[in-house]
Amino acid sequence: MAQVLVVFLVFLALMLKNPQVAMGIYRAVRLWLPLDDAYRQALARYNTFYQRLPPASKKRFERKVKEFILHKKFIPRKIPRVTKEMKAMIASAAVQLTFGLPDVTLLHFDKILVYPDSYYSVINKQYHKGEVNPRLKAIVVSWKAFVEGFARPHDGINLGLHEMAHALKLENIIRNGEHHFFNLDEYKKWLQLAKEEMAKINRGEASIFRSYAGVDEDEFFAVCMELYFEQPHQLYDYNEALYKTLSNLLHQDTIRLFGPAPQATRTPPAAGQG
Ligand SMILES: [Zn+2]
Repeated sequence: MAQVLVVFLVFLALMLKNPQVAMGIYRAVRLWLPLDDAYRQALARYNTFYQRLPPASKKRFERKVKEFILHKKFIPRKIPRVTKEMKAMIASAAVQLTFGLPDVTLLHFDKILVYPDSYYSVINKQYHKGEVNPRLKAIVVSWKAFVEGFARPHDGINLGLHEMAHALKLENIIRNGEHHFFNLDEYKKWLQLAKEEMAKINRGEASIFRSYAGVDEDEFFAVCMELYFEQPHQLYDYNEALYKTLSNLLHQDTIRLFGPAPQATRTPPAAGQG
């Protein structure tokens, strides 16, 4: 019945010879329909953040996932197609990060490129697992690395969250009507704490952050987000002020969502580059 309604409305708009109106109606009706089961099953199976949400918040999460999927172009690279499961999981990384920022959709980035594994970048002549390119309005991920991030949800390494964090930080400064969503005072606090922690990392002192976080403020921000969602209790114990600025920037509190940490999850800080 719903499909018939969609076809009818789109047909009507086409009759009026206005493809933009047709597309607008198509998206609005699609958004109104419940999330396809294939997408929801992927979220329920693999996204630990989604799994812990109360039912009403799950519905809001699903709506944001659907909105993301409808508004981004998913482009397969060296793979036949981007499956529903892939789309659901990639969207879920963005939605998890922006869940407390209801109006933020990473608007600037309209393309998601998916490679099967690490890919060679002709720009800087290196192999990459992911990148964000504001000029091309693209977010690029290696599916292998992306899956590893969600398969080990508590090791503090998550490529999907890392790349979406880069996109989020850029989105905050790209003037497109979806910018300046970070509270400026909180952002300044974060920046000060980031500088202190990066200096520590670069002096080779013990830190919960892997050394890659010391490269620059953008990488530090991206690694912050990986820890904020994958090792929130350890991050809080390590640097409470930093945890709180991240929580205030994102308008959400992972510890409150996840509940008290079982001792088993208090693993040593992850090492290595990402
Ligand atoms: Zn990065």
